[in-house]
Amino acid sequence: MADGGGRARPNILVTGTPGTGKTTTCSLLAEATNLRHINVGELVRAKDLHDGWDEEFECHIINEDLVCDEIEDKMEDGGNIVDYHGCDFFPERWFDCVVVLQTDNSILHDRLSSRGYMGPKLMNNIECEIFQVLLEEAKASYAEEIVVALQSDTVEDISRNVANLTEWAANWTPR
Ligand code: ADP
Ligand code: MN
Repeated sequence: MADGGGRARPNILVTGTPGTGKTTTCSLLAEATNLRHINVGELVRAKDLHDGWDEEFECHIINEDLVCDEIEDKMEDGGNIVDYHGCDFFPERWFDCVVVLQTDNSILHDRLSSRGYMGPKLMNNIECEIFQVLLEEAKASYAEEIVVALQSDTVEDISRNVANLTEWAANWTPR
C-alpha cells in the first residue's frame, strides 16, 4: 500500500453546523464527480447505529464505533463523500480533503427555523456556528493543509463550491 492508503480516488469529508448545506452540496458534488455520497445521519437511522434518543437535543446518540465499522471498507476503497456534522471520530487517514461549510448566523437562523428547529436545539446550533465549533474540530483532527472552510450563504456559493471541489477531485492523484 502507498502512503495515501492505496486509494485510486479521494475521500472527501463535508462537515459543518446543521443547516449549512452539507447534504445539498454533497448531492450535487456526487452527481458531478461520481463519488459516493455517504450521509452519516441517514445511515445511523437506517441501520440503527445509535444508542438511543437524546431528549434534550432531539437527535439520535450516534454510536461512533458502529458508524466507522459500517463504512470502513468503502472508505479504504476510496471515492467517498462523507456528510456529517461532526468529524473528530473518523480515522484521520480516511480523508484527503476536509470541507467545513459556514453560513452567516442570521441566514442559518432562518434556515433552521423553517426546518422546525426551536428552543435549545435552535440556540445550540446557532452557537455552534458562531463559535466555529466544526472548524476548530476539523483543525484539531486533521492536517491543516487539507482543511478548507467554504462559505455557504447562497445558491451561488453552492455552485462555486461544487465546481471547485469537482475540479479538485478531477486533479487528485494518489499520494
Ligand atoms: P445540512 O445537510 O448541512 O443540514 P442542507 O443541505 O439540508 O444542510 O440544507 C438545509 C436547507 O438550507 C435546505 O433547505 C437547503 O436548500 C438550504 N440551503 C443550504 N445551503 C444553502 C445555500 N448555500 N444557499 C441557499 N440555500 C441553502
Ligand atoms: Mn444533512
